[in-house]
Amino acid sequence: PREGTEHRRVLLKLSGETFGGGQIGLAPDVVQRVAREIADAVAQGVQVAIVVGGGNFFRGAELSQRGLDRARADYMGMLGTVMNCLALQDFLEQAGVKTRVQTAITMGQVAEPYIPLRAIRHLEKGRVVIFGAGAGMPYFSTDTVSVQRALETHCQEVLMGKNGVDGVYTADPRKDPSATKLDHLTYTDALVNDLGVMDATALSLCRDNDVRMRVFGMGEPGNVTRALVGENIGTLVTT
Ligand code: UDP
Repeated sequence: PREGTEHRRVLLKLSGETFGGGQIGLAPDVVQRVAREIADAVAQGVQVAIVVGGGNFFRGAELSQRGLDRARADYMGMLGTVMNCLALQDFLEQAGVKTRVQTAITMGQVAEPYIPLRAIRHLEKGRVVIFGAGAGMPYFSTDTVSVQRALETHCQEVLMGKNGVDGVYTADPRKDPSATKLDHLTYTDALVNDLGVMDATALSLCRDNDVRMRVFGMGEPGNVTRALVGENIGTLVTT
């Protein structure tokens, strides 16, 4: 932990799949459940920053295969993440948690712009900071942004909430029944064996900067709180 950071500060990545409950659009019941679990961890003193995905609305790469310009499609993808941010903000506030949304594309009526020092100040005051609009740059993923925001706001751990799996496996457990779950692996393992943890840009950013990451399953009730408070669940990934 960085000097002066007495509290546990973590970055939670929530994918669009979580927000959509596996479908297109928003699954409010799922978002509400996740918000309540985050509120439990905040009540225990954990400082929580969140990066929100947007695959439940648009993925730039998919849209570009259907004829749209890739960069413009990526901007659509980034705008989708902001809708998820607002939904999460609402359910967190309903659960009694103070929040701020910061977006990488400025939109003053709905969110603050991304200002790292201000984000850190919010975290110190116990507010949950929700980062939207990715990096504000096409060709990037919200996974990569999660690592970047964690580094810049001095988070001790990146927590990757996954749907359908409870950690990293030796192969895709949905396709290969002989796949086994790993308790620990290195970024080099993940890159070399193409284990599908995150995209290569995100993995190499982790490796180069010695990021500590935990991959865990969103399915099991209580797991979000467990990951946030630092329980040893899922798979730990380190340099
Ligand atoms: N995106 C982007 N730059 C970023 C982050 C996201 O262009 O820095 C776009 C990209 O098109 C991506 C979409 O936003 O497909 C939604 O983000 P992502 O796919 O990472 O969301 P998730 O898979 O977590 O739901």
